[in-house]
Amino acid sequence: MAGRLIVISNRIPLEGPGSGGLVVALHEALTDRGGIWIGAQETDADTASEKFTRHEAPGYEKLTFELTAKDQEEYYLGFSNSVLWPLCHRRTDLIDFESRYADGYERVNRRLAHMLAEILEPEDRVWVHDYHFFPLACFLRELGVKNRVGYFLHIPFPNGSDLPALPHHETFIDWISSYDLIGLQTQRDVAVCLEFFRGHPKAELLLDGSAKYGSRTTQVRSFPIGIDVDVMLQAADARRADATLRLGDGERLIIGVDRLDYSKGLVNRLKAMESWLQHREPDEPRATLLQIAPPSREKVLAYREIRDEMELLTGKINGEYSEIDWTPVRYIHKPVERELLAALYRRADVGLVTSLADGMNLVAKEYVASQDPEDPGVLVLSNFAGAAEQMPDALIVNPYDVDEVGEAISQALRMPLDERKARYRELMRGVQEQDIRWWTRAYLDALARCPVNLATET
Ligand code: UDP
Repeated sequence: MAGRLIVISNRIPLEGPGSGGLVVALHEALTDRGGIWIGAQETDADTASEKFTRHEAPGYEKLTFELTAKDQEEYYLGFSNSVLWPLCHRRTDLIDFESRYADGYERVNRRLAHMLAEILEPEDRVWVHDYHFFPLACFLRELGVKNRVGYFLHIPFPNGSDLPALPHHETFIDWISSYDLIGLQTQRDVAVCLEFFRGHPKAELLLDGSAKYGSRTTQVRSFPIGIDVDVMLQAADARRADATLRLGDGERLIIGVDRLDYSKGLVNRLKAMESWLQHREPDEPRATLLQIAPPSREKVLAYREIRDEMELLTGKINGEYSEIDWTPVRYIHKPVERELLAALYRRADVGLVTSLADGMNLVAKEYVASQDPEDPGVLVLSNFAGAAEQMPDALIVNPYDVDEVGEAISQALRMPLDERKARYRELMRGVQEQDIRWWTRAYLDALARCPVNLATET
């Protein structure tokens, strides 16, 4: 198809192709089709340049736009991560708003829209990623841009009843209806998004499932993001994990891997582990929870608070249940590189995901992809992770009920091999079928098929 693919994401790998499923998938999509990848780069200057900086990349172009320290504070830490993140993750109580955050968010998005409008050619398709850029298409339309512009929201779509917590929330409908295609992680997100349009007095739902607002029609569909299965399979070497872990004889392993974020339900997870320990029979094997939780957004208060809570609770549980040769919770507040993660996943008898809200949760899929087909572990998965929609063969739990999660840990540890294999086969089939390459293809095909909105005003 004629025209370039133009990808916008806040983060852009500037050294080489980068690692991580999404980054690799976008790199491949751009290498196959040609195009431009645009992302942010911090600058020490007081004023951000109005021009893109070009970076060397084979096969396609990488361009960056500048973020000053003020932009970083207002657009990124402020509006994106202290307002939109808690809003979309159903934690309006944690919204920390200052008007300058909204100003900074609008300023950065408008600046980017101007810069983008200058380089767009009529046939180009634009694919915008994530909550940092909700209003980008709206600002592009104001500048007369008629190109197909698609959006993919990697996190949950905000509940209509929470949206009034968003400052200037009346403009939200202008922001999202300016896209031709809104891609979401789950059917549940699609339902929430369509419900938002349905509830708006000036919008209507069309029979084909799209939404009409003013003169524009927006398609809303789910494209559950996947992982690069081969990368996990190749790295999954349990011997490497054994050498690193040094578990006791017959000691079982439960693994959790999450950025230290309040949406991940980490405190509930520790409490579930506590519940399991409390109810454990003396003849039941020992199990250790290895919780890898690298620091994240520590400049935001809510993230510092969760760190304190985790340290306190880990200390309390270990204080009560540790033996001379057994520490039931190993809490690691550091990032672990992917190869070692794959090895640890494979060694773990249980993969534990207890998010309270989560767009997808790739860890759930990585855990499954890393298992030994002849002796697979069991995934315990929160009903509130997007992944639950595609993974009904996991042990699906309500993360708010810590005793239920404790019971699921026990069930997972006792599960017979036949049942583990049967569940694993189903889960792995889904993870393989809808992998990261399927996801890029499915989204870009849908964007290419989208009817063009000729009118630009909303
Ligand atoms: N991850 C990692 N090292 C760590 C912790 C996490 O490489 O120490 C990776 C993990 O393998 C996964 C991603 O970070 O690919 C987390 O994605 P997920 O969708 O689970 O959560 P997010 O952080 O995007 O909310």
